[in-house]
Amino acid sequence: PAPEERELPTEPREVLRRIFGYDEFRGEQAEIVEHVAGGGDALVLMPTGGGKSLCYQIPALVRDGVGVVVSPLIALMQDQVDALRALGVRAGFLNSTQDLDEQRLVQAEFVSGRLDVLYLAPERLRSEATLSLLDRGRISLFAIDEAHCVAQWGHDFRPDYLELSRLHERWPDVPRIALTATATEATRTEIAERLQLTAARHFVASFDRPNIQYRIVPKVDPKKQLLRLLSEEHKGDAGIVYCLSRASVEKTAEFLTAQGIEALPYHAGLEPRTRAAHQSRFLREDGLVMVATIAFGMGIDKPDVRFVAHLDLPKSVEGYYQETGRAGRDGEPSTAWLAYGLQDVVQQRKLINGSDGDQAHRRRLLAHLDAMLALCETVECRRARLLAYFGQDPAASGCGNCDTCLSPPEDWDGTVAAQKLLSTVVRLKRERRQKFGAGQIIDILLGRKTAKVIQFDHDTLSVFGVGSDLAEAEWRSVVRQLLARQLLAVEGEYGTLVLSATSEDVLRGEQQVRLRRDPVPARAPRARGGS
Ligand code: ADP
Ligand code: ZN
Repeated sequence: PAPEERELPTEPREVLRRIFGYDEFRGEQAEIVEHVAGGGDALVLMPTGGGKSLCYQIPALVRDGVGVVVSPLIALMQDQVDALRALGVRAGFLNSTQDLDEQRLVQAEFVSGRLDVLYLAPERLRSEATLSLLDRGRISLFAIDEAHCVAQWGHDFRPDYLELSRLHERWPDVPRIALTATATEATRTEIAERLQLTAARHFVASFDRPNIQYRIVPKVDPKKQLLRLLSEEHKGDAGIVYCLSRASVEKTAEFLTAQGIEALPYHAGLEPRTRAAHQSRFLREDGLVMVATIAFGMGIDKPDVRFVAHLDLPKSVEGYYQETGRAGRDGEPSTAWLAYGLQDVVQQRKLINGSDGDQAHRRRLLAHLDAMLALCETVECRRARLLAYFGQDPAASGCGNCDTCLSPPEDWDGTVAAQKLLSTVVRLKRERRQKFGAGQIIDILLGRKTAKVIQFDHDTLSVFGVGSDLAEAEWRSVVRQLLARQLLAVEGEYGTLVLSATSEDVLRGEQQVRLRRDPVPARAPRARGGS
């Protein structure tokens, strides 16, 4: 139980030292704390691990009244509150996991001012009961954590967040601080508008994470590639492996366990109790590998995560940045590794084509995906691309700590290859009833007399065998890159390859196509690798 009567320091730096035990503020924390403690509104954009919590916790302690923190991370509230209580801060929470008695106790503490910080789930604020409860106490500030959840086109949208603008209407004099680690210009503008924070001071921290080494490799044999990464570079390290589906989470965790690497699955289909147990083992034990869908990780504070590996393509650069950002929060060297292949592009385009929602929604999803693909296919510094995406200026000369800086990829003139491939797509289009994916087209180019090639007489096409100068992996790379640049498109539920609006330019020889040469898998880029 928290003490009822205390002598609290009232000066922010004193609170930092005496309560939290830190010597100095980090980055912009000092300015943010001073601004909010003085009653100002703030919008804070800071990468994961940057230290956002103190930005509202210290003003809540310095100001009179209770700091009300809105957070969607219900599963973490108990931990957060316990951590604060251990420091002597009077903290409590209200969410759906509590029984009525527990809730009444916290409500009484709030009304009588025996709390410093109160965590609330956003859906609470839909109820008039909660709003009138807040009326009966004294509020020092509102903190809106994970504020990007208000962005309707974002990847974490929560309808309850739209209601949060009511806080300002009902309590116009209470300062508000909204915080997020997602930071594109568009998201920032949307947050500011929806939460009525356009007049607030905006604090935008640097999004660079210099200790994270970014690497994106072509997917060849993903499990083997992952195993090599873990055993050659991250033996005994804690890390997270992200997969798209629950099934591949299960399979990958089993595979790693069979290889002698301790790995736990985590996805929304597991029993809540199992999920909680796996999460707490990951946080408390050393060297565990969590194999998870993106359901895992929001708000997880484990400083020594040494690698984040993606076995499937993230849906957006924001998602990629946030997920990889869970590596290396302690500032030590860490790896962000992604394997991606042709199938990822085809699959995600197919998913978007078949998704519900209106045309505009699908266009947004495609734009997110295309930005992610551009990051994968760039021949420039990955970090520079990433920072530019977040509207920040990268170092002019490359970062020296990503795969393209460490072993610069060659590019090659793929115009003729692209023309051969697109011509094949044109030939197949004439066979109206049949739809063919990348596999058949590559077989034709390579001149392979497979059963399916013979069945459709594809060995009689003029393009049969014209692509034997390239290997299959190279053709897959060509297809992937043409798709990424929209010089080729995917249609329907089978992933049929079709011409895009700009394919004709290539076919007519009006557009040159420079392609990135994939590194040979056996010599996958290594840190400071020589030749
Ligand atoms: P975020 O919410 O931005 O992801 P947190 O608030 O969880 O980040 O902080 C990340 C880690 O950094 C935590 O372990 C926190 O205790 C630590 N931290 C925050 N501010 C400081 C500081 N000024 N000095 C030392 N450590 C800090
Ligand atoms: Zn770089």
